[in-house]
Amino acid sequence: MKVDVGALVDGVRDGQRAAVARAITLVESSKRERREAARELLTTLTADPGSGVHSPAVRVGISGVPGVGKSTFIEALGSRLTAAGHRVGVLAVDPSSVRTGGSVLGDKTRMAQLSADPHAYIRPSPSAGTLGGVARATVQAMSVLEAAGYDVVLVETVGVGQSEVTVAGMVDTFLFLTLARTGDQLQGIKKGILEIADVIAVNKADGDHEGEARVAARELASAMRLVRGHGEWAPPVVTCSALHDLRVDDVWDRVLQHRDHLGADGLADKRAQQQLDFTWALVRDELDQRLRHSPGVRAIRDGVRAEVLAGEIPATLAADRLLAAYDQGSEEAREVPEEAGEI
Ligand code: GDP
Repeated sequence: MKVDVGALVDGVRDGQRAAVARAITLVESSKRERREAARELLTTLTADPGSGVHSPAVRVGISGVPGVGKSTFIEALGSRLTAAGHRVGVLAVDPSSVRTGGSVLGDKTRMAQLSADPHAYIRPSPSAGTLGGVARATVQAMSVLEAAGYDVVLVETVGVGQSEVTVAGMVDTFLFLTLARTGDQLQGIKKGILEIADVIAVNKADGDHEGEARVAARELASAMRLVRGHGEWAPPVVTCSALHDLRVDDVWDRVLQHRDHLGADGLADKRAQQQLDFTWALVRDELDQRLRHSPGVRAIRDGVRAEVLAGEIPATLAADRLLAAYDQGSEEAREVPEEAGEI
């Protein structure tokens, strides 16, 4: 069905939920003709002054291991923000949705109150084939939400490797939720996380666990000082209880302080750099897909695999052969433009 992009743009700018939902479905689509329409939609929406790097929206990534309390936290924070007059969008980047086709993040049943809130919009993670595909859809969904007047966008992701780095690359401030862990258990927190976190909150600081959480926060704060250099933003480590809505406002204040620290120019620079990095990430992702689907590569892949495993050819030669097969396929595709899409 042909998409009426003009009507969709109007609906999104009007903040209509149905239009927002349709627009996000459109940008998540991998179908060729829908991608054209998605591109047109995004080009129009991001041409607005006050969009893109100049968007006034507060973009925050929220991460942590399953069970740390992400959805409870987002529910508490989101409800506070909408009560204060904000419009809150919640997106999710879930690499496991790529494998399972379903997402545990951004699941509305996990945020019952917020999903019934007319000033909040929750969208589960797209299952777009690859982390790059999910990231692409999420960044575009963010533009849709911002164009629709959502001034806070929370991007939830789970604490596993690359997805956190990916989310850190699309938000202004990265909030890491953790649990009270002391001493040796601190090692369990990957150094990489400490490097990308802008604010750290030790959650479940309630009841008998409050003291323990405070000690953990202090230890984590000293660990942070070792990781971050002087003069840089020193990520604050605070405690909160998402379940009882204790000090969730304090966590938010820290997020806003981080934004203030960046300043308007710093924020615009950060976002511009993210755009550039993301551009190359998209190109790499697309090339990877093309490589996988290249008929030339497919034709020799199994043979090359067997030869490498049998020790008959070295990796360098195998790589050269695969690349040659790919290049040849690309050449042929260029000669027959109508088939270029088949790669
Ligand atoms: P997620 O997997 O990170 O989204 O974690 P959830 O938000 O689903 O929380 C996992 C469990 O921890 C649930 O049973 C929550 O009720 C509980 N929980 C979340 N936040 C807190 C908290 O601040 N204190 C306590 N005691 N429990 C919490």
